[in-house]
Amino acid sequence: MREHGTRTLRVAVFSPLRSFFDYLPTPGASSTPLTPGCRIRVPLGRSERLGVVISDTWSDDTLATGERELKPVLEVLDASPVIDASLMALALWAVQYYHCPPGEVFEALLPAELRRGESPRQTREPAWQLTPSGAAALSGSERLGPRQRELLQRAQTGVITRLSLTELPSSAARALREAQRRGWLAPVEDAPLQLAPAVNDARFMALNAAQDEAFMSIRSRLGAFGVHLLHGVTGSGKTEIYLHLARDVITKGGQVLVLVPEIGLTEQIVQRFSERFGAAVGLVHSELSERARALVWQRCREGEIRILLGTRSAVWMPLPRLQLVVVDEEHDPSFKQQEGFRYSARDVAVMRARRLDIPVVLGSATPSLESLANCERGKYAYLPLAERAGGASLPGIRVLDIRGMTLTSGISDPLRRAILERAERGEQSLLFLNRRGYAPVVLCHTCGWIAGCPRCDARLVLHLEQDRLRCHHCGFERRRDASFPDHPCGRLEAYAGVGVGTEQLEGALGELFPGLRTLRIDRDAMRHKGDLERAFTRIRQREVDLLIGTQMIAKGHDFAHVTLVGIVDGDSGLLARDFRAEERFMQTILQVAGRAGRGAQPGEVLIQSHHPEHPVFTFLRHADYRGFATRALAERAEAEMPPHTALAMLRAEAPKREPPQEFLRQLAEGLRRELPPSVFIGGPVPALMERKVGRYRANLLLSCLDRGVLAAALETALTRIRELPLARRVRWHLDVDAQETG
Ligand code: ADP
Ligand code: ZN
Repeated sequence: MREHGTRTLRVAVFSPLRSFFDYLPTPGASSTPLTPGCRIRVPLGRSERLGVVISDTWSDDTLATGERELKPVLEVLDASPVIDASLMALALWAVQYYHCPPGEVFEALLPAELRRGESPRQTREPAWQLTPSGAAALSGSERLGPRQRELLQRAQTGVITRLSLTELPSSAARALREAQRRGWLAPVEDAPLQLAPAVNDARFMALNAAQDEAFMSIRSRLGAFGVHLLHGVTGSGKTEIYLHLARDVITKGGQVLVLVPEIGLTEQIVQRFSERFGAAVGLVHSELSERARALVWQRCREGEIRILLGTRSAVWMPLPRLQLVVVDEEHDPSFKQQEGFRYSARDVAVMRARRLDIPVVLGSATPSLESLANCERGKYAYLPLAERAGGASLPGIRVLDIRGMTLTSGISDPLRRAILERAERGEQSLLFLNRRGYAPVVLCHTCGWIAGCPRCDARLVLHLEQDRLRCHHCGFERRRDASFPDHPCGRLEAYAGVGVGTEQLEGALGELFPGLRTLRIDRDAMRHKGDLERAFTRIRQREVDLLIGTQMIAKGHDFAHVTLVGIVDGDSGLLARDFRAEERFMQTILQVAGRAGRGAQPGEVLIQSHHPEHPVFTFLRHADYRGFATRALAERAEAEMPPHTALAMLRAEAPKREPPQEFLRQLAEGLRRELPPSVFIGGPVPALMERKVGRYRANLLLSCLDRGVLAAALETALTRIRELPLARRVRWHLDVDAQETG
């Protein structure tokens, strides 16, 4: 080690500032350099912040912080790194790729307690194991509640620690006490930390030929980087393949990361992993408490968790023996973080796998156009599963031309009759309407005034159950009979709802089908914890004939008795203005359609539309997602949009209309002179919803065929922004690989 020049520590300081900062070592500190990944406390301006050491080196170069005199580090918090070398490298890649503040990226890698400076927790804690009488109880000599059963099943495949219970509902602790009292579980002294996972082989079913082919193809490539796109229709047995792969990996000592969308983390998928891998399974999702999350983080790091199931942020969890990554429903928009550090968990997962030289499986019934394009370019392996596993057939899809038809609360006669037929046969129907509330528009019958949100360019939605008018974008709400200053005639009794939301549909169906038992599933009807699980139980036990639901029911749930899916508003998705609107529409309809005919009866999907000739429906009728994608990819190439090009959005907002526009205009003007012509600069234009929560928003779009050229252009843009005085009068952010351009 050279020991002349200046010893400098480069630090990712937890702050929204867009650069790394350099510091001197603490006076009197040992001359051994700190390992990257250790946390330290540093001065920043007049405050103190925590940060993560990026490097600690001797150099005689001019320092990045420029002329300013370097200050010393105040305190070193860790003797050994809390972030391992491979995650450090991944985070540094993300800082560059997403052009975002380093501190924000590194904060995403640590649980809240560690971000605040607390030490990692110890996980050696009391543990319990299954006794012979516990095993007997489990094998059927006792009646067990569901919690007891789950607990004992876990114990069957390993030791139960209090930590391993933290992601279960609070009643798990009670179940544990009870099991101990009855002698089913006994404490173990000094439980081994690294559990050898016991796999419940009896739960595995033999793969069918198509599954086996995909499975073998991926398995033969374990140990090397490769992206495998598993394009399998809903119910084709993708999850079963993940389970088989996971077994392979963990019995060889590896760890597996399984990412699922925000609302895809259902009890069903958790159950399927837990019953086979027991205590080796860990969970992370957005509803986990800070403490529980910190414990999962620790258990992943120590290797006790062998299979981590989680939503977006799980991609940053420490998994020192990671050997396989799975991204289920890889097309799902919830993998993209939409605020702060705007990363795509799917893309980070692929990069993580690439750096570790391990495979990643992207699974979907409706893959993103990005991933399909990568298959066409030969970068990803394409693995199709064309048929449902277990014998069920795919539902037939029909488009109902409802032009000129009489609709009763949005329901046409053919759809009504189809529902009745199902009910007579004792089968269930599901109506999909992605619009909450009673009516999406409220107007005054006397003067025609339409109730708008005072803070957003949006209409207020009528919610009759809560007797409220609400904005779905900012949370603004008033009583239904509230007066508004912009209402010309001021007659409150003349308010009328226009259009149909789920709440109204549910009421109308009650009248249309007096004998049928209905159930509504949306965010308003399912407000409390446990509501959704209770609803699913009722559906499975056939206590419901007719389901009405939003996006909430589109994913991951297996309803064996639903044989009819009705898409109430098959036009809304086609009228949206974003470039991904058709892709999203296609994905949503096929996802919802996938709920039908999962059992022995074949299913049918009826889509009500005023535009039955729209090309999207031709593909839908044949459930031809691949054909749709080929056409959509050609259109994207024509329009020079992603995945053909790389795209980033610069968005600005302020309480007044002009500053964001003017800021972006000045920036665009400079960039048009400075950047190569291969970089397309679109705008600035006002956002589709220009005013949101009282702030005006404008966008500038940058795109280029060459990702590297775009990256350089974005660096230039960031430099120019620093020089623009207006930048301080607006809030702005950069969104690389933005999902929406509006
Ligand atoms: P996907 O993840 O593609 O939606 P799943 O793995 O959930 O599909 O499988 C759909 C259904 O088919 C499940 O009920 C599952 O138990 C069943 N299944 C999957 N693979 C097989 C198989 N090889 N043999 C019999 N049934 C299977
Ligand atoms: Zn609003």
